[in-house]
Amino acid sequence: MTGTIMNLEEHRVPVAAFLPRSLVNGPGVRSVLWVQGCPLRCPGCFNPEFLEFSGGRPAPVEEVVGWILAERQTEGVTFSGGEPFAHAAVLARVAEAVRQAGKSVVVFTGFPRDLLFARNDDATRRLLDSADLLIAGPYQRERPAAHPWLSSTNQQLVFLTYRYSDSVPAATRKRVEYHIQASGTVAVTGFPARPSRELVPLTSQLDKSQEPTP
Ligand code: SF4
Repeated sequence: MTGTIMNLEEHRVPVAAFLPRSLVNGPGVRSVLWVQGCPLRCPGCFNPEFLEFSGGRPAPVEEVVGWILAERQTEGVTFSGGEPFAHAAVLARVAEAVRQAGKSVVVFTGFPRDLLFARNDDATRRLLDSADLLIAGPYQRERPAAHPWLSSTNQQLVFLTYRYSDSVPAATRKRVEYHIQASGTVAVTGFPARPSRELVPLTSQLDKSQEPTP
């Protein structure tokens, strides 16, 4: 028997949560996709419930791209996690489709920029090639950052295209958003000035089972 062995990791996105519109996860109004699974263990991680690779809801690439493109008022998507580069092959496919449609791609990663650029694998290269902005580096809770997109001062903004290189906000106050879900739960996302157990993990309560509103 002949045939092609399908690599499911390249076809299904391990969705931990999806938020159709946010103002606090990168430039402009953006959809946010959190993926399930991160190999790092930064002390004080904002989303500990997204660290294990088991869990989440596997969704076909086409479905996830559809959620993002259905949001006509957004300028793009932000990948967060979990660790997006632990799922680089499948997220590269999402990012390529999003960029082809004229929207932008921002990636939060716990890996330092130099480590990613030194990697010699096709999936990492494709995700880097289809991103406009990386926010890179592990979270270090002893070095809190004032910048609205950074959690700690060791993290770097890495502009991979010119799309956002002249629109970086000054280090100002932190911002968080509260989202009331159809299920009745309240989700919180963004960058609180002082991470607290009461606020941050509520990101996980974003309603994963519900299709985003077109
Ligand atoms: S890289 Fe991000 S998701 Fe992973 S442990 Fe660090 S803070 Fe948490």
